[in-house]
Amino acid sequence: MDAQRRRALAPKTKRRLKLATGAGVCAASAFMAWAVRGRSSEVFGRSVWRGPRTRRALALTFDDGPSETTPQILDLLARYNVAATFFQCGNNVERLPEVARAVRQAGHEIGNHSHSHSILSLRPRRFIEQELRLAQEVIEERTGARPVWFRAPYGVRWFGIGHVLERLRLTGVMWTVIGYDWKRKAGAVVERVAGAVSNGAIVCLHDGRELHVKPDIAVTLEAVRRLVPLLLDQGYKFETVSRLICPNN
Ligand SMILES: [Zn+2]
Repeated sequence: MDAQRRRALAPKTKRRLKLATGAGVCAASAFMAWAVRGRSSEVFGRSVWRGPRTRRALALTFDDGPSETTPQILDLLARYNVAATFFQCGNNVERLPEVARAVRQAGHEIGNHSHSHSILSLRPRRFIEQELRLAQEVIEERTGARPVWFRAPYGVRWFGIGHVLERLRLTGVMWTVIGYDWKRKAGAVVERVAGAVSNGAIVCLHDGRELHVKPDIAVTLEAVRRLVPLLLDQGYKFETVSRLICPNN
């Protein structure tokens, strides 16, 4: 190749190289985004996001409780005699221990949703461990139940969480469908959930709003009021996460 041709090709090759590097960075950041927040990602630790598709069963799950309005959710579930799983925050359990206990006494499962609902990305393992361990201790002390499932605040997992989950004998739980009940109207939540459930689905709603005192969860209440009879009519059985994932235990 003569010098003139080499000079002519060089910018094109450089551009291609630049494009390839750009694509690599893009792919890496897309992978990282999925690893941290993807519902089926197990990059940072063992995690489930749905149960077996062989049974017409689903799990209703509620995050961010207990709240002052959780008893109204319990009343609705009792009306239809259905079980659910509540991922409680240690801080909220400390604020409302009687409500946390009432959840367990009604026969529902209690999961760990961290102590202070902090986002766990970019945090050292020490911090992650403290968040999960404290919530385990507070929940067990106040309700008598020791959670076996952990749902990460905002669905965000990070380096080190896998070891922490193992040490605390927890398994991560994401969701098959999330209702966006903290920002949408009840009709939209019902439509979204009813349109996306299938056998083995794990549905994520919220009986609190992070650590807010007396949060407004009217949308969640209305959505549950409409969804439960609708899904029962479709033949779904409501199960706790443990029952849905391990039906033979
Ligand atoms: Zn949450």
